Amino acid sequence: MLNWLIDIIFPYRCIVCGKYLNKEYLCQSCFNALPVKKQNECIGCQRPTPLGKTCVFCREAYAVDQLFVASDFKDRNVASAIKLFKYRFLPNLAQPLSQLAFKHLDHLAKRDYFSIVRGNPLLVPVPLFKTREYWRGFNQAELLAQLIARHYRLDVGEGLIRSVHGTPQADLKDRPERLSNVQGLYICLNPETFRGRAIILVDDVCTTGATLNECARILKNAGAVSVMALAIARG
Ligand SMILES: [Zn+2]
Ligand SMILES: [Zn+2]
Repeated sequence: MLNWLIDIIFPYRCIVCGKYLNKEYLCQSCFNALPVKKQNECIGCQRPTPLGKTCVFCREAYAVDQLFVASDFKDRNVASAIKLFKYRFLPNLAQPLSQLAFKHLDHLAKRDYFSIVRGNPLLVPVPLFKTREYWRGFNQAELLAQLIARHYRLDVGEGLIRSVHGTPQADLKDRPERLSNVQGLYICLNPETFRGRAIILVDDVCTTGATLNECARILKNAGAVSVMALAIARG
């Protein structure tokens, strides 16, 4: 029913050039033209740091140890792909968006010999409140995490959930409000899944980093040894 509706409202055409496609929304050449980030930054102060490690000044306030942002939200095609994926429920856009992450991580592998699979990390999607997920039909972070897991042969860890229905972060504009809005929103159901593990949190967009940070805090309380975060873009 939903797929049939999507076909009518959103025919399979490239969202950039308009070319008709087969069950896709981005043609290869428009995908190739999307920017891939070559630099990484601290999750807190957003200053450039090697491999996105959280800088010494932000380390106390942030439980995320390292942040990877694949592409640039300032690029209008990237921004529209993410918005269509998230708010127009086009799950097929998960493929090209996750491929941006592969391109970014491949770049780091070549330049800095960085390996995302080192230490066999567990991928954990940032959870949505269940009614939002049912309404949308999918959790966009979970779709991305599954594709990334398949690509790198890693596992997806389940058990981090959203507890109560707070105001969605996107509806809040200022930073202090965003930071306090997320506290107490996430619960870890089965700490044994995460105990002693390196974690990679996955989300489509990182904004202030408050959501990723709160999830990282909960996972570290559950016994995770390190938490990296991977987002497609920073908005
Ligand atoms: Zn195109
Ligand atoms: Zn910093």
